Formats: sequence, structure tokens, C-alpha cells
Amino acid sequence: MISQKLGYSTVLVDRVSHPRFAVGESSTPFSNLLLESISNEFHLPQLAGFIDWGHWQAAHPNIACGLKRGFSFFHHERNLPFIPDLRHANELLVAASPRNSLADTHWFRSEFDGHLAGEAATLGVKFFDRTNLTRLEGLDSDGIVTLAAQRGEDRFTLRTRYVIDATGPRGALFSALNLDEASLNPMCPTQTLFTHFRGVLRWDELFSGNSSEVPPYPIDDAAVHHVFDGGWIWVLRFNNGIVSAGISAREEFAREFGLHEGAAGWDRVLQLFPSIQTLFKRSSAIEPFRFQPRSSFRSARVEGRNWSLLPAAAGFVDPLLSTGFALNLLGILRLARALETHGLRTRAFDDEISSIGRIAIREFEAVSHLVGALFRSMDRFDRFRSLSMLYFAAASFSESAWRLGRESAASSFLLCDQEPFASQLKEICRQVDDPRFCLSEAVSQAIAPFNVAGLCNATRNHWYPVNAGDLISSHAKLGVSRLAVEDLLAKFDC
Ligand SMILES: Cc1cc2nc3c(=O)[nH]c(=O)nc-3n(C[C@H](O)[C@H](O)[C@H](O)COP(=O)(O)OP(=O)(O)OC[C@H]3O[C@@H](n4cnc5c(N)ncnc54)[C@H](O)[C@@H]3O)c2cc1C
Repeated sequence: MISQKLGYSTVLVDRVSHPRFAVGESSTPFSNLLLESISNEFHLPQLAGFIDWGHWQAAHPNIACGLKRGFSFFHHERNLPFIPDLRHANELLVAASPRNSLADTHWFRSEFDGHLAGEAATLGVKFFDRTNLTRLEGLDSDGIVTLAAQRGEDRFTLRTRYVIDATGPRGALFSALNLDEASLNPMCPTQTLFTHFRGVLRWDELFSGNSSEVPPYPIDDAAVHHVFDGGWIWVLRFNNGIVSAGISAREEFAREFGLHEGAAGWDRVLQLFPSIQTLFKRSSAIEPFRFQPRSSFRSARVEGRNWSLLPAAAGFVDPLLSTGFALNLLGILRLARALETHGLRTRAFDDEISSIGRIAIREFEAVSHLVGALFRSMDRFDRFRSLSMLYFAAASFSESAWRLGRESAASSFLLCDQEPFASQLKEICRQVDDPRFCLSEAVSQAIAPFNVAGLCNATRNHWYPVNAGDLISSHAKLGVSRLAVEDLLAKFDC
């Protein structure tokens, strides 16, 4: 849609047709902000209706999505029921928005993607669905790329100056160019099993704990993470009664429970965690289970002379922390700005694309350090929780800085270009296995210059609401006046 808007004749090729199943995924404040930036900068009001729950319900009530007020984490131990603790020792709740209208969303991809494909076509993008690319010639040259395509019985060729690959991990260009995979160390190998369900009960109805205490948001209106030694299960609820759920697990765990067997593997994992099993006791899968034997991935090359991979095609670490959309939208925004500023086939555009590729690789590395360390800490929830503060601090700082017009203060994901934070994050992740390492102190110190959300505050007992006062008192960290923060909050009626 962006390239068409910028005056390029654009063709979109997909091997399937809409509507089609895609795993339910959740947005974050930062990914929604990026979507809003794309909508504003490239004059695409078609996207503005998706930037938060409130806009979505007003503009597209007929397109399903889920309400995501924050990130909910619950820790489980094998063969033991989950027992809520008065001081929330086995929980972490981090609010992402102060009320529903400003909340993030879970995208019900079959309807959302189908709608966007239609919007692209309306703008003049030629959309070839059910189309397989059978041959690609001219990639990495100074000339035109020729794509041989087949749609049903029809065979045709497309000629283009530039190819952007949005086909996901190990996708079209990765295969056509025979690219190598790069190591994603220190992320461990993982396997993923997921589908959509109906009849999943709500966690707050089953395990609400001390009922006099009001959580910072309804805990199921969130990306819910059930964490245990070896992996984690996500639960995302849509407003059409469908629930996206799945497990991402270390290879050893996945093998032990035979995740590759689909439903049987899923049932075996549920039997291990009685409270999660209760949550799913009346549920039924409405789609076949999807199994990914090797989830994490990074392509050794991410761009070339006349092509580039969007971040979602260049790499993937894990759904934990919902980093996928944000990384991808950041990559799209950077590419779009390069296209607008320099235009195709200019030296400046090529240079910019190379630098975008380098930063994308650094971002994957930072995410793989953090998520790898989180996987290694799933047996010690206090460590897991402390580590996660690195993400929440970077994400809330980035969103606030961008909203205050200070994009340059947080131009890379996870602040991976920001020293000494970037090195501290890696060092903390490296030391996480050392029992003598004082992790919580190291994290508090590392995030201090970016902590605009009252994170690591012991009095909050691991429940973090959105608190305007935290942001106001952090104005200096954001390099703006108190008034600037108050004006921003007033804009959102906060
Ligand atoms: C289990 C799981 C859960 C996730 N959860 C989250 C989350 O909660 N939040 C988040 O931010 N991110 C999440 N992610 C990451 C997220 O999925 C990606 O960032 C996102 O899907 C990227 O969207 P996309 O449309 O670019 O790619 P995809 O969704 O991968 O779509 C790729 C498209 O390319 C087409 N295609 C593939 N190969 C070819 C080919 N050879 N020729 C033509 N067409 C082709 C496919 O049909 C498909 O339509 C998750 C990922 C997984 C695997």
C-alpha cells in the first residue's frame, strides 16, 4: 500500500487466498504507535482504524479482534495446581494501557489480513492470490527481476525493479537465493504447537486469589502467558469467542511430550499443569493443530542489490513478549522512508537499505539474548520476572519518547543502539544462570535511565498499572519538560 501510494506500480503475490488461517497475534503500544506513524506519514487512513481497541471497535466492529490491556504471566510447576499468592509471587501483570479505548489488540488474522488485502487492491495494488512463484531471475543484479508465476492453470511472468519479501521465515527469497541460516545464539532451539479454540474458560473466574484486590486490568483481557520450566503457553481471546492458544517449548521439553503429535502432545502438556488443564477442560480446537519443529530462525543475508526481506522474513525468535509485529512494522517504516526519501535505484537508497539490514540484525540479536535468557529462567520465576523488566522498560521508554517527538532517543528496538544499556542487557542475560549474580539489582541499575513506568518498584508486588505520575516524574529521562508530558497525557485524557 505504501509503495503504491508513493507512485510505484505494485504487485502483491500470495500463494494462498483470503480468508486463511494465521496464528492470532497481539499488538503492543509500540507496534500500534508504528502502525499509526505509517498511517499518518504515508497518508493511509485505511490503517487508522486499527491503531487501538477504541478505533478498531468504532471503525471496524465487523472485523474480529481481541482486547489486550497488558501482559499477564503466571508461573506453574509440574503436577501442582496454581495457588494465587497474597504477594503475587507467582504472577506478573504489566498494564499497557489505562483503559479499554486505548488498549492494544489481538489481530484475528484471517479477517484482518483479508480486509487489508482488499484495501491494497482498492488502492490499485495488483493482487495475485493462489499464486506460486516458480522461478526468480535477476536477483542481486543491477537489472530487472523476472518472476515466473503460476495461478491455477495460468502461467505468467512479472518483471519488477525491486522485490520485498514478506513471506515469513524460510520464505520465498530465502529459498530462491539459497540463503544460509545464521545462528540465533543464545536463543535455544524451540518448537511450537498452536491452534484456535472455543470454550476456553477465563483465568480470573477460576483463580482470582484475594478477591478484595483489583488487578490493574481484567487479567484475561491481555496476552496471557503460562510459564513453566521448559516453555510457556499463550492464551489470546478474540471478541468472537475464539481463543488463540499454543505452546512454545525448548526442544528437549517438546520431544519429551511429543508436541509433533499435535493434539495428543497438547493434551500431555495440559495433564502436567492441572490449573491450565482446568482452563481448557471444556475447550475444543476448531482448526487443526499447527506444529513448527524449528521456530527460531535468522537468515544470514537480509538484503541485496534489488531485494530485501522484511524483518518477519529475515528472522523470528519467539512469540514471547510479542516482538514480531513491532520489529516488522519498524522495518516497514524504515524501508518506506528510504523509498520516499531516495527512490528506487539510487545509491542513497541502496546504502540506506544496507544500514536498515544491519540494524535489523542487531535487533534480532538483542531479542535473542533477552528471550534466550528468559527461556533459561523459566524454572526461577523471580529471575524471569526481573529479566522481563528489561523489555518493559525499553518498550515503554521507546513508546513515550516517540509520542513526545523524540524518536531519535529510541530509534532501535530494545534500545539496542543505546550504550551502555545494550551491552548491559547482553551481560545481564549472559550471567543469568549464575546463582551468585544479583540479577534484580543489575536490572534495576540498567533500566534506571529509561524506567518511565515505575518498574521494579517492590511496593507494587508485581502488579504494574499504568500510572500517569510515573511518566510525569520521568520527564527529564525523556529529555522533555514536565509540561510536555502533561500535554501528552491530556491528549489521551489521562
Ligand atoms: C506462533 C506464533 C505466535 C506469534 N505471536 C505474535 C504475537 O503475539 N505478537 C507479535 O507481534 N508477533 C507474533 N508472532 C510473529 C508474527 O507472526 C509475525 O511478525 C507476523 O506474522 C508477520 O506477518 P506477515 O504478514 O509479514 O507474515 P506471515 O504472517 O508469516 O505471512 C506470510 C504470508 O506469505 C505467504 N507466503 C509464504 N510463502 C510464500 C511463497 N513462497 N510465495 C508466496 N506467498 C508466500 C503466506 O501465505 C502468508 O500469507 C508470532 C509468530 C508465531 C509463529
